[in-house]
Amino acid sequence: MTALSLENITKSFGPVRVLKDINLDVTEGEFIVFVGPSGCGKSTLLRVIAGLEDATTGTIRIGGRDVTTTPPAKRGIAMVFQSYALYPHLDVQGNMALGLRQAGEAKPVIAERIEMAAKMLSLEDYLKRRPAELSGGQRQRVAIGRAIVRKPELFLFDEPLSNLDAALRMATRVEIARLHRELGASMVYVTHDQTEAMTLADRIVVLRDGRIEQVGTPMELYNDPDNQFVAGFLGAPS
Ligand code: ADP
Ligand code: MG
Repeated sequence: MTALSLENITKSFGPVRVLKDINLDVTEGEFIVFVGPSGCGKSTLLRVIAGLEDATTGTIRIGGRDVTTTPPAKRGIAMVFQSYALYPHLDVQGNMALGLRQAGEAKPVIAERIEMAAKMLSLEDYLKRRPAELSGGQRQRVAIGRAIVRKPELFLFDEPLSNLDAALRMATRVEIARLHRELGASMVYVTHDQTEAMTLADRIVVLRDGRIEQVGTPMELYNDPDNQFVAGFLGAPS
């Protein structure tokens, strides 16, 4: 089954076209990484998939449903941001519960999902703390937990590790890979970091100036880049 299908997606801000004819099918359970230099349109593409921005043209399908005009909360996605985007006045439990409450989930279901996510992310001892009382790594785990509890069809990550120091970045990367295995969920992950792309991806999508430059497994792109840009970006010899 196709988890996500993008057909002829373009996005313009005023006269400036930042996404140009994006076509991509993501298979269920696949870990897809979008890489490309700053400003190439990675965040915009993720926001278009999430429904936080409307596509200017094109069709978006999630799990076979046309969601092109569906509001974000009904797309079956959960997004994790670089900046965590936690509510400062709510504790960890409250942050994880909020989306579920808004979706009208019953209290016991909410409690059970939070327990599961807290266990997966080793946050059991932090449920009553507010974001200000947590380290950067813990905050990002809460943001990931908030996505997990919603049981989305599709996870979207926008550079989730870039505010963490090197050691924590590696630990959290390993944790995201483990979550992908355990949940078997489809994930679309944006980064400008080659190591993250090479180690996490089933397939890498290289973006350049709003277009897809090449799609392939890490080894395909490394061993057989279509051009100098892809080779340079993935650190392959050319
Ligand atoms: P990336 O995430 O790859 O760094 P972005 O998707 O954030 O790139 O941005 C792609 C381009 O779109 C940039 O030139 C940026 O300035 C422009 N852009 C992004 N969001 C907006 C917006 N809301 N209004 C106008 N231009 C935007
Ligand atoms: Mg970005």
